[in-house]
Amino acid sequence: MAKANRTIKQAAPIHKNEVITASVTDLTYQGLGVAKVDGFPLFVTNALPGEKANILVTKVLKNYGFARVQRLLEKSADRVELTDQLALTTGIAPLASLAYPAQLAWKKSQVQQLFKKARLDVEVADTIGMADPTHYRNKAQVPARMLNGRLETGFFRRGSHKLIPTDSFYIQDPAVDEAIRVTRDVLQEFGISAYDEEEGRGVIRHVMARIGKATGELMIVLVTKTKKLPEAGAIVAALKARLPKLKSVIQNVNQSQTNVIMGYQNQVLWGKPAIEDILLGKKYLIGPNSFYQVNPETTAKLYQLAKEKAELKKTDTVIDAYCGIGTIALTVANDVSEVYGVELVEAAIDDAKENARINQVTNSHFVAADAPSQMLQWAEEGLKADVVFVDPPRKGLTTDFIEAVSTISPKRLVYVSCNPATMVRDLKELVDHGYALEGPIQPVDQFPQTTHVEAVAVLTK
Ligand code: SAH
Repeated sequence: MAKANRTIKQAAPIHKNEVITASVTDLTYQGLGVAKVDGFPLFVTNALPGEKANILVTKVLKNYGFARVQRLLEKSADRVELTDQLALTTGIAPLASLAYPAQLAWKKSQVQQLFKKARLDVEVADTIGMADPTHYRNKAQVPARMLNGRLETGFFRRGSHKLIPTDSFYIQDPAVDEAIRVTRDVLQEFGISAYDEEEGRGVIRHVMARIGKATGELMIVLVTKTKKLPEAGAIVAALKARLPKLKSVIQNVNQSQTNVIMGYQNQVLWGKPAIEDILLGKKYLIGPNSFYQVNPETTAKLYQLAKEKAELKKTDTVIDAYCGIGTIALTVANDVSEVYGVELVEAAIDDAKENARINQVTNSHFVAADAPSQMLQWAEEGLKADVVFVDPPRKGLTTDFIEAVSTISPKRLVYVSCNPATMVRDLKELVDHGYALEGPIQPVDQFPQTTHVEAVAVLTK
């Protein structure tokens, strides 16, 4: 994280527990304020550029340290005051204290800096944001813990497993917040225990709630450590009575000792095995383990943009790589000749096929495989794609993948990225393979109040 080029080894100019007055000059990609003491960078929680504060040094490493604000002396004009600010900024909404227009500008500049550093000369457009950047998430996965002998739900303080109980999560849909609250109350009433990581005892690990924003259909998943959920029938009856939108209650068993939230065994306690949502005119069935974008409003903008930038023709053959449950593929299917999707998770491919069926899409072909291997195979088989969409996980594409693109030689490649750092790396490699970057790069704010940046880039042959 620190790029301090301190060639001469010196002791840090500050030590732990020292309180100093410092000016904050920058904001890191993790949303921490940067204050420099004799050139030595300190990363400060809940501090914004332009602010001056008394800060307490909490940790000193060789080339950088950490601190937190003790007293704010000069406030940024972009600071917004929120109730429960510290809890939010140390947990689920690290950028919540930064005014929304400043968040959008910061995300644009993050992308600009990465392109500049890579010496890729391209314009970056203003970040597309939301009219109301709060309460947007259609899904919550909330940990449960015993506090004072009672099951509580909330979030873990950043970098820890310390539960901060909360009723309202600021960035989640109100119906999702309500579902979590009601579930917690019901579990408390039936005296159900929460899982204790250290002791390996207890029942409830997480409560997951997801709503189809377009349909109003609500799913609750109780993630349990144990195979048995005591009082399951009575719990379901109480949830049904208090949550009229409820369409599905599922028990997901996760007996592992890891931080992975969901296991793979699902039991429908009541209702449907999957809820339905509608996105850009297509229906999607979403099961408890399916990946589905958490912000449908900006996802619609993102896909629309990706589709426009692809300049599709009715005769085109299209590849959607890293396709999840097939959302990009099915969004463009009616506008092209054939669409091929590849995705690693088999259950997601099952969903993609089912989603094609319920939308009467007959020109899609979905394959469960590693995307780079499948691309190489398609290249060997001589598949000629006119357009390739990629939407990889945070680690981005691989060299194999890029070589396969080069062989398949599409006219256009549309890169949807949730991590601009790896996107820039991949774009550079694609440019070396003879592709040209077409500006502007478009950041889209899929995750307001957080430091995540989503962006769309286009390459042409
Ligand atoms: N385009 C989809 C999903 C994007 S998320 C949507 O918008 O909903 C990225 C997807 O890549 C995930 O579904 C993940 O399971 C998948 N993935 C991760 N590694 C992969 C790999 N090596 N090969 C294929 N798919 C992979």
